[in-house]
Amino acid sequence: MQETPHFDLIVIGAGNAGLAAALTAAGLGKRVLVVEKNLYPGGSAASFRRGRFEFEASLHEIACVGTPENPGSVRKFFQANGIRMEFVTIPELFRSVVTGEDGYDVTLPADPEKLPEVLEQAVPGSAAAFKRLIRIIQNIRKASDYFGSGKQNKLTAVLKYRPFLTASAHSLKEVLESIGFSPKAQSILATYWPYLGSAFDEVDALNYLGMLGGYLYTPPAIPKHRSFELSCAIEHRIRELGGEIWYNTKVDRLEYRNGRVCGAWVGDRCIWTDEVIANVFPDIVYSQMLPKEAVPEQAVKLTNARDYSLQFYTVYLGMNKGVDELGVRDYTIFINTATDPVEQYRRMDDPERAPLIATFLNCALPEATPKGTSMAYLTMVRPAGAQDGIDAEHYREWKEELASCMIRRTEQTLGIEIRPAIEEIEICTPATFARYLGTPYGTPYGYLVRPWDGMTIRMMNRSRESFVPGLSFVGAHGEMGDGYSSTYLSGQKKALALFGGKP
Ligand SMILES: Cc1cc2nc3c(=O)[nH]c(=O)nc-3n(C[C@H](O)[C@H](O)[C@H](O)COP(=O)(O)OP(=O)(O)OC[C@H]3O[C@@H](n4cnc5c(N)ncnc54)[C@H](O)[C@@H]3O)c2cc1C
Repeated sequence: MQETPHFDLIVIGAGNAGLAAALTAAGLGKRVLVVEKNLYPGGSAASFRRGRFEFEASLHEIACVGTPENPGSVRKFFQANGIRMEFVTIPELFRSVVTGEDGYDVTLPADPEKLPEVLEQAVPGSAAAFKRLIRIIQNIRKASDYFGSGKQNKLTAVLKYRPFLTASAHSLKEVLESIGFSPKAQSILATYWPYLGSAFDEVDALNYLGMLGGYLYTPPAIPKHRSFELSCAIEHRIRELGGEIWYNTKVDRLEYRNGRVCGAWVGDRCIWTDEVIANVFPDIVYSQMLPKEAVPEQAVKLTNARDYSLQFYTVYLGMNKGVDELGVRDYTIFINTATDPVEQYRRMDDPERAPLIATFLNCALPEATPKGTSMAYLTMVRPAGAQDGIDAEHYREWKEELASCMIRRTEQTLGIEIRPAIEEIEICTPATFARYLGTPYGTPYGYLVRPWDGMTIRMMNRSRESFVPGLSFVGAHGEMGDGYSSTYLSGQKKALALFGGKP
């Protein structure tokens, strides 16, 4: 066997969470190696080129970026690690269009001062309930800072953070109903549910309202040059700090000796390390990378009990018309066929009625494509397994039909013509994401958040989920859930927990 150096930390996977963990550990002076099976960093946070267009692979918007004067956790993370990054703020939360009899078409600003007025116009009588909602969101934000700083005094929690605790024990539906929102106002406010992947009546209000608060108080943003710019900047900084990154290299299995993980195998070489952080689903690590005796039964039971979150079908469009010519002015448009968010979730099974998100990049970033052109991503969310039963012979035909349905529905709902302007088109299905990311069913979202498995419960059980000494997990499947801000934070927190230091 070849001699190899000994690392303080090996990170498997250069997704957002893996990169953030490696960056944090390298910043603490640790000897770090990142092993990534693809040729590029970022996992989902990547881009690809077709013709004149550089397409964003995943990002619609990052929560918790904020402005230079009012930075959110993501901007602070980059600043604290010595990375200068230019972000473009998205002024609106979203446009939400529901077709059909009880439908509506509302655009919500990313501004807590202006939002109540817009909501009141759309649904008269919502202002009082909105004031109550803002008080809950503010309490959640304060409590998150308190618990995030490591303090856990139970009396303080009960006396000062009761709304936080209540929100963690109830679904979003229960909380919005109980503070007096009408069904239509509930529907508008719940528009973001596809970002968390859980149904309105299942997702815990804490998770959703924490995210909504992030969007409201530290406006969402995108980087100027796609999310790949973020991944490359982190990668560059890890190297500056002395860390190593090996691309095109897959970790096949882990070395387990004397009751702990102590190395990672790449091909016929074992690379020795004190700690391994896997940016890979626990089920995969437990079943494919470790000997059976290393994995406690409880760990297997827990991963088996968890369901995989949603899958994405995305159509990437490069068009030879600008957004003005197409007649589009909104960056993110959520399209639904039912007002009730529970029903929206049920309709994921049917492509003709499933939730659809249309993102027109040039509406936020006019210079994103050559003059007179524009780019859009149409994303359909579907339950895990929606692609089961499609055989190889019919796969191409099936995915083209689905893309056609998504384009037609977008055209009909927005009253625009996309098809004649298409110059480049790429269609990604869960199979594409599964191949590139290595996630089960290609989900970019980790495990489904359920009432028994919400954020607070995962956080409270954190220490009980450290099943194998020397091995930790980070990523969308972790306690913070999916998304850019959550996965960066997940990696940062894990490295700090292992090696000490403050965020
Ligand atoms: C179409 C789409 C749109 C999205 N929109 C948004 C959005 O607008 N806002 C938002 O916040 N989030 C969005 N997301 C979600 C977000 O992108 C993900 O939740 C997040 O990027 C997941 O990061 P992760 O750290 O879990 O790692 P992943 O991105 O899953 O990366 C894991 C990495 O590990 C590598 N790997 C796996 N196994 C091995 C192995 N054995 N050896 C070596 N390397 C390995 C993989 O190659 C990959 O690079 C979107 C996702 C998609 C797909």
